[in-house]
Amino acid sequence: MRNTRDTKSLFELSKPGRRATLLPKCDVPARPLGSLLPASVLADLPPQLPELSEPAVVRHFVNLSTQNMSVDTHFYPLGSCTMKHNPKRNERAAAMPGFGDVHPYAPEAAIQGLLELLYDMQQYLSEISGLPACSLHPAAGAHGELAALLVAAAYFRDRGEKRTKVLAPDSAHGTNPASAAMAGFDTVTVKTLKTGAVDLDDFRAKLDDNIAVFMITNPNTVGIFEPSMKIIADEVHARGGLIYLDGANMNAILGVARPGDFGADMQHYNPHKTFSGPHGGGGPGAGPICVTEALAPYLPMPIVRKSSSGQFSLDFSMPKSIGHLRAFFGNTGVLVRAYTYIRAHGPDGLRRVSEHAVLNANYLLSKIKHFLPVPQGERCMHEFVASGADLKATKGVSAMDLAKRLLDYGFHAPTVYFPLTVKEAIMIEPTESESKETLDAFAEVLFRITEEDPELLHEAPHSTPISRPNEVQAAREPVLSWKS
Ligand SMILES: *Cc1c(COP(=O)(O)O)cnc(C)c1O
Repeated sequence: MRNTRDTKSLFELSKPGRRATLLPKCDVPARPLGSLLPASVLADLPPQLPELSEPAVVRHFVNLSTQNMSVDTHFYPLGSCTMKHNPKRNERAAAMPGFGDVHPYAPEAAIQGLLELLYDMQQYLSEISGLPACSLHPAAGAHGELAALLVAAAYFRDRGEKRTKVLAPDSAHGTNPASAAMAGFDTVTVKTLKTGAVDLDDFRAKLDDNIAVFMITNPNTVGIFEPSMKIIADEVHARGGLIYLDGANMNAILGVARPGDFGADMQHYNPHKTFSGPHGGGGPGAGPICVTEALAPYLPMPIVRKSSSGQFSLDFSMPKSIGHLRAFFGNTGVLVRAYTYIRAHGPDGLRRVSEHAVLNANYLLSKIKHFLPVPQGERCMHEFVASGADLKATKGVSAMDLAKRLLDYGFHAPTVYFPLTVKEAIMIEPTESESKETLDAFAEVLFRITEEDPELLHEAPHSTPISRPNEVQAAREPVLSWKS
């Protein structure tokens, strides 16, 4: 059970005159601010800052931090988002002054080490994806999707082709159709079968010479590897279209299958998922994209290049590039963490990461499917989607009730109601970094919850500082000031 200490804001804890630091008495004559600065830059009132001692501030933030659930404190089986352990060596590397304290306008000659790391990172990501050109520029997975679709649009424009259609399966992440719309395409949804695979009849009915891009997540969001991947890629290519791989599920196939080999022309990575960067709560990410040789000229700038004499530079002069989508050269803090993770594991280690992620997911699947049906669930890749539909029909207990009740037992809630193709979806991704004991404990608790009194579940969680906030209202109408 969790504590519910101190949820007052710093402003409520404030007492006039409290300070963390006492300054010595001023030894020069005091002068009013108005005599030093023009009136136009002075505020009418001093800022309303809270006044507290240092221990009070430390306690406040440390106590707040213990009210959070994180990968460092709890099992976090959040499907699709790959919440794995963040090795602390990544943090040490990212905090090194040559990485952490670099000014974005530092001259290239002064940041050769950082540029070398970024150059190597481009190479590693290309090698893992089987796609030869890479840009580290985009700021997150969804931003990578947008970048790649703009690359596709620039490619077709350059060839004088007008293609307006992006196809995506109904199990796709919401960012796929959103990115397509932002890049100026019309999205057409392709049905998937009960097995989770793309419905080839529906795919063929919607495929025509107007196709620009087929966006696919593989393994897909129900945790299966698309059995018709090659057929889909061949037929899209025969029409002159491109395949985009949503790389959020790369944790299942590192060193096992390369998207470039199974037909992808472009893909994004989520280094904050696959390569163990901390994320959540809207925290930092990155969205590097890799593409084929034919698409390389259109990549967002800059690309890190290496000269024949071994000097590293940022290439800002790519005439066909889609340009910049953000400031500077990328979220380097996240990229340094991912680089450290890749180097620490090496090629064989990365393959073992995926093998263990798939093994852990299948182990959990085999324990859970007996009491919570998994519609696509004989075998899975790195995640699977259980359905609470029966439980809802028989006991009135929803997927949300189950997820919220897990919090009382010290487990982070899994992803629920995604993908939309599974009723009362509960999407579970254990990742490779969990032990058998943790997986057993989770399966046991989940089973116990399905047997509990529905009344107890409707009002869960019971042990957290607040129970069920209105999530939609909290997102749409955030209260950002302490007095309103
Ligand atoms: C997380 C995710 C994305 C979006 O990635 P962000 O880094 O969160 O922008 C896209 N598709 C899938 C399947 C995802 O899980």
